[in-house]
Amino acid sequence: MMRVSQLHFGNKMSDTIFHKIIDRRIPADIVYEDEHLIAFRDIAPQAPVHVLFVPKITIPTLNDVQPGQAGIVGRLAIAAANYAKAQGFAEDGYRIVMNCNDHGGQTVFQIHLHLLAGAPLGRFG
Ligand code: AMP
Repeated sequence: MMRVSQLHFGNKMSDTIFHKIIDRRIPADIVYEDEHLIAFRDIAPQAPVHVLFVPKITIPTLNDVQPGQAGIVGRLAIAAANYAKAQGFAEDGYRIVMNCNDHGGQTVFQIHLHLLAGAPLGRFG
């Protein structure tokens, strides 16, 4: 089976640290996985709960999502909500964030949803 890291996306990096986690080339604290996506704890948590939801297909930024790939963005959000329900903090609430490019603060160029929870997070926006 072709590894996700073998896929190429224009001249953008298609072997990020998240591809290495998907391929089990580096370890991560994985909390959920299915055929479409993987979720693992952020190495530098910004809240008591900080989990990243990452698709297995290569998509560097939100700008690169094609119309036919809209479903994976929904899957990331639903997986995050399901995780919140399973962990018992869905009713207390949480925040999901997707950074894009330089001004958005994106540092890993494989799209990912941040799930932040576990305490009041303050106003945003
Ligand atoms: P972003 O800045 O939106 O691209 O988010 C990238 C996130 O990946 C940051 O919150 C980092 O702390 C996190 N991160 C980087 N390397 C790892 C890793 N090896 N395992 C888990 N999280 C990581």
